[in-house]
Amino acid sequence: MSVYLDHWERFDPVHVFGYPSSLARLLLFAEQNGRRMMTRSLRAAFVTGELFTPQDRRIIEEHLQVPVADGYGSREAGFIAHQCMEGRYHVTMESLIVELLDSRQQPVSIGESGEVTVTHLDAYGMPFIRYRTGDWARMSAVPCPCGRGLESIECIEGRKTDMLRTADGGWAHALSLIYVLREARGIRRFCIEQSENLDLTVSVVADESFDQAMRQSVVSGLQRRIGGNARISLQQVAEIPHTASGKHRCIVSRAG
Ligand SMILES: [Zn+2]
Repeated sequence: MSVYLDHWERFDPVHVFGYPSSLARLLLFAEQNGRRMMTRSLRAAFVTGELFTPQDRRIIEEHLQVPVADGYGSREAGFIAHQCMEGRYHVTMESLIVELLDSRQQPVSIGESGEVTVTHLDAYGMPFIRYRTGDWARMSAVPCPCGRGLESIECIEGRKTDMLRTADGGWAHALSLIYVLREARGIRRFCIEQSENLDLTVSVVADESFDQAMRQSVVSGLQRRIGGNARISLQQVAEIPHTASGKHRCIVSRAG
């Protein structure tokens, strides 16, 4: 990471682009090593490839002091939506038809969550027609104040595989659990694993302000979300390893 920072300093970029967890990690590394980030020419940071958590956004904004925009896409479809200055995700309607479908392949009503399904308008080598991405999102009902006429997605909820099973047979999506952990002081990074019987193992990287009262509030908050008799065990760890692709996966469920 020191080598990356040296390169950053020499290059003096106008914008940076990366996985949010990687960028946040690099910036925390810089801080821990007493290095000031070179942002002389920097105008914006772009992130992609993961669920963009509020924690990562805060770290990137605090360290770089420039607007941060998330780009949502997939390997097959390319960029599906880009975030504007208002924080909405505008669909790249010039090259894609994006539909949000329910489990019976029917379009959901505006404001309801559905599976992002794409039809490519300019993929001549390999057609993608109503291709289901596995991601879930909600379309926005009102026009974006930024003035762009492109449809906008209000909330990208992540992959079904990033969701947890609840005791009543439903699903809790990653964001609803992230809120529980975000409210706890001191947590820098976390990973939640769910076993087949719905029990959760929660690993957190936290600083010294994460005390016993915070632990208790996280455990009871998660217990409420899952319901039933799910047992929650919380462990503090030094580091949470990234997956082989370099992405950070914060929710893993085996209860499918
Ligand atoms: Zn907008």
